[in-house]
Amino acid sequence: MKRLEGKHALVTGAARGIGAAIARAFVDEGAFVYVTDIDDDAGTAMAGLLGDAAAYLHLDVREESDWIAAMKHIEQRSGPLDIVVNNAGITGFEQGNYTHDPEHASLESWREVHRTNLDGVFLGCKYAIRSMRAPKSGSIINISSRSGLVGIPGAAAYASSKAAVRNHTKTVALYCAEQGLNVRCNSIHPAAILTPMWEPMLGTGPEREQRMAEFVSDTPLRRFGMPEEVAAVAVLLASDEAAYMTGAELNIDGGILAGAAASPK
Ligand code: NDP
Repeated sequence: MKRLEGKHALVTGAARGIGAAIARAFVDEGAFVYVTDIDDDAGTAMAGLLGDAAAYLHLDVREESDWIAAMKHIEQRSGPLDIVVNNAGITGFEQGNYTHDPEHASLESWREVHRTNLDGVFLGCKYAIRSMRAPKSGSIINISSRSGLVGIPGAAAYASSKAAVRNHTKTVALYCAEQGLNVRCNSIHPAAILTPMWEPMLGTGPEREQRMAEFVSDTPLRRFGMPEEVAAVAVLLASDEAAYMTGAELNIDGGILAGAAASPK
């Protein structure tokens, strides 16, 4: 028996990176996965790679109308969802604007990051609960970040949005428990996972390797993590093995949060 046999899952931002790895791992464990994204070409290709156990749906996590349309389609096609992974997220650096410190960041860029990372997770939780209400069970997994647990001077909006995701996860977990629903909600806090998200920061050319080494020089395991390593944690939270876990936060960061960067001798 596979660990997610018979379950239906929706993963946001699943065209590439961590979301794609989670979709693949879920299919490998027997789930049917709705691969969703705003990049329709990459999302369709990703779902195609996963075969009959996956389908692509356009879903911009910022748009409530997209959530309503996706949920209506899923309800008609396969009924309630068992698993929702709110994975889609942006750093704010996608447009090459590196001014994200608390003194100089623009209000517009602050709002854009929160729209995707926080509004998207709020909507994802809202519609996940509604889908899971009738069967009274399910697993919601929110992808926060190590940046949601510590301050990040150069990425203020990203850190703020991910901290809010951590807290909202606990609110959702308690709300569902209060409502008598066996709907669990947990957050995963990755750090330095090698995905396309890093490309604008790593760049190309001969200095790429050096930049990579610099980014992980303070990471105790001294390497980037891989998307599949995050997906393995998502499989655990999605499965019935995690039946007593709700409102929890799991770090997957090569040990960064285990200690302080400064080590007084
Ligand atoms: P990627 O940028 O590689 O992939 C994110 C995917 O989400 C892309 O396909 C992107 O589409 C899509 N997306 C962006 N905006 C939206 C939207 N509004 N609605 C739906 N989909 C959208 O990111 P990662 O795989 O690296 O990150 C996944 C999650 O993990 C994010 O929440 C991120 O913050 C978090 N995380 C990642 C870490 C890392 O080191 N990689 C560390 C900590 C947390 P498009 O390409 O068209 O923009």
